[in-house]
Amino acid sequence: MSYQHQYVDGTRIHFPMGKVVCIGRNYAEHAKELNNPVPTEPLLFIKPGSCVVPFVDGFALVEGRGDVHYEAEIAVLIGKPLSRTPSTEEVRDAISGFAPGLDLTLRDLQSTLKAKGYPWETAKSFDGACVLAPFIPGDAVEDLRDMGIRLTINGDVRQDGNSRDMLNPILPMIQHICGHFSLQPGDVILTGTPVGVGVLNKGEELVLELVGHSRFASRTL
Ligand code: ZN
Repeated sequence: MSYQHQYVDGTRIHFPMGKVVCIGRNYAEHAKELNNPVPTEPLLFIKPGSCVVPFVDGFALVEGRGDVHYEAEIAVLIGKPLSRTPSTEEVRDAISGFAPGLDLTLRDLQSTLKAKGYPWETAKSFDGACVLAPFIPGDAVEDLRDMGIRLTINGDVRQDGNSRDMLNPILPMIQHICGHFSLQPGDVILTGTPVGVGVLNKGEELVLELVGHSRFASRTL
């Protein structure tokens, strides 16, 4: 199904789907669960816009390529161009929305790639690898250091994190990203996943929440 950014009230957001800049190991407890060292500077990778699908109404899982892991993350929608060294205020002003999303990962494949020292793209950028729920407006959140992200699967809470536990908080993280990549309206930042990642299977019922702001139900097909 083709993806278009939208707000929770159904309003279409007229930015193209750009790139998705992701940060790995941004919560210490999650780095530990995969036996990864906590990085000294943000670990960045990019998913192309072509891999993004909407969360609501069900989404298909890639099949026959090993375990697919879910990673629930706070997604930040960029609404203004940002590059080089924006101030904190410029970054805050460029944020058009927040949504819960899933960074889907072919974990077996990623482990093989990691062991060889290869890039992760085939494990992270396949069609359907980024699943985004609708956004709340950027100004609907007052404190970016207190945003909850929760994923419930078949009635069990699997991930329940808060941005206060991020090793790289949202605004300085985006400033750091701009030192490497220019950001354009329609780009999305996936801000890392809290502890509790695991295998996602077909036919599971999911609830994804930006705690206190938005809540969406869906299922895997
Ligand atoms: Zn992730």
